[in-house]
Amino acid sequence: MAAGEIACAPNEPLVVSLGQKTSDSVKLPTDAHIALGRFDPHVHFREAVIPSKEQYEECGYASGSYEDVVNNIKKANGLYSIRSGCLAALHGGVTAVGAMGNTPWGPVGEKRHKLTQSHYSKHGDIPIVVWPRMEPDAPSIAGHEGKDFGSTFGGSGLTGKARADMYKLWRGQAVSYHNDQARSDETLQDFKDRENPDQRLLHHQYFNGDTVLACQKETMEIAKEAGLSSLLARHISTGPALQQIADAAKEMPYKLPAEIGLDYVYWNQERLLTQKKEIALINYRRPAHPTKADQQSLIELTRDLVRSDYAVFFGTDHAPHPIEAKAFKDGLPGSPGTRNIEHSLQFYLELVENYGYSWFDIDKLASINPAKHMAQFFEFSLEVGTMQSGAMANLTIFNPNVEYTVKEGSLKTSLEDPYYHSALIGESGLRGKTLFTVSNGTVWEIGEKISKLN
Ligand SMILES: [Zn+2]
Repeated sequence: MAAGEIACAPNEPLVVSLGQKTSDSVKLPTDAHIALGRFDPHVHFREAVIPSKEQYEECGYASGSYEDVVNNIKKANGLYSIRSGCLAALHGGVTAVGAMGNTPWGPVGEKRHKLTQSHYSKHGDIPIVVWPRMEPDAPSIAGHEGKDFGSTFGGSGLTGKARADMYKLWRGQAVSYHNDQARSDETLQDFKDRENPDQRLLHHQYFNGDTVLACQKETMEIAKEAGLSSLLARHISTGPALQQIADAAKEMPYKLPAEIGLDYVYWNQERLLTQKKEIALINYRRPAHPTKADQQSLIELTRDLVRSDYAVFFGTDHAPHPIEAKAFKDGLPGSPGTRNIEHSLQFYLELVENYGYSWFDIDKLASINPAKHMAQFFEFSLEVGTMQSGAMANLTIFNPNVEYTVKEGSLKTSLEDPYYHSALIGESGLRGKTLFTVSNGTVWEIGEKISKLN
């Protein structure tokens, strides 16, 4: 090991030098760990651009009157913002994200995608890639990765036929997809009446690992028919689901990168039963949390694949729903998804402390591989996914050796998120504290307040 210095200036490339000491340098504590900034390809920051009436009419793919759409956008924008999302990312050591477009008047078609992307670039404190949203009547956008929400639309989803036709529009292009769907043989209500499971496990046992396997199998066939170049399964939740992708990669004529849902390495159905009931009842998402056995195999297979250089990476699916949207209605769960990007470090530490992951495994899964994936579809201003002079200055500096407790009140303030709540509240045994996050040369100190130092 050698002493050295890393120089960072906003929008300037990284400079790594050995042994230099400048007067304005921040000296790091000896147990601080310095790593490549994390790239999270899957977040929902929920904010949408407000179009002018002319833009609204010109861009197309709209349903409803201009006034209604603008009202919906304002309502959504009042509940969460790009700013809060960026602060949450920085808190977790994340320096760039890929944002989803399931927002009112989202990035459907080339013009709306351009407007949404420039809105996110203008208001983001960190680089943000906006993924175009696929819709049955919207043509592909060359060089971008379309996101298919079809199997999850409005809960009931597009039919396989509608999705197959939509994929054909993206021939030769890349697509990512939501990878679970409702059961074909039974509704959630019927399942509840028949099985009457513990209320905390209703969602997780209905949308079990089989709903992921069924959706992935169908989608991989559709992608083959359509002649895609690449198909990314989002938020893989179980070992068998990851194995299914890795097996298909050997025979499918397109690339099959794999995104592991980061919080599935922490939550499983057994652990949910140890939570306070009111917290466990808002701790659901889609795909649902795995069984303990499916989680164990997910963790082992992810480690094996990353060591064999498979294109596998983490995504948090950070989904900041207001708490009201998550409440059970008529005995059935509300909107799935939780805030979690701000606790990315705590999830990585679960793997390092308990499952033998090395820090290099984490660097590949959380920084190098997702950065290389995202850079195929977005012109970053400098090279990403590497820590060397001349590359984009993206770093996370943290102390892995301290205990961590979730404090909703202080996160509400530091993340500028008035509706903040966390599924990790009350969890003991969490570890790690982010000290600084550097995103494209801007240094952020992560404390009670998250503030810029340069
Ligand atoms: Zn998502």
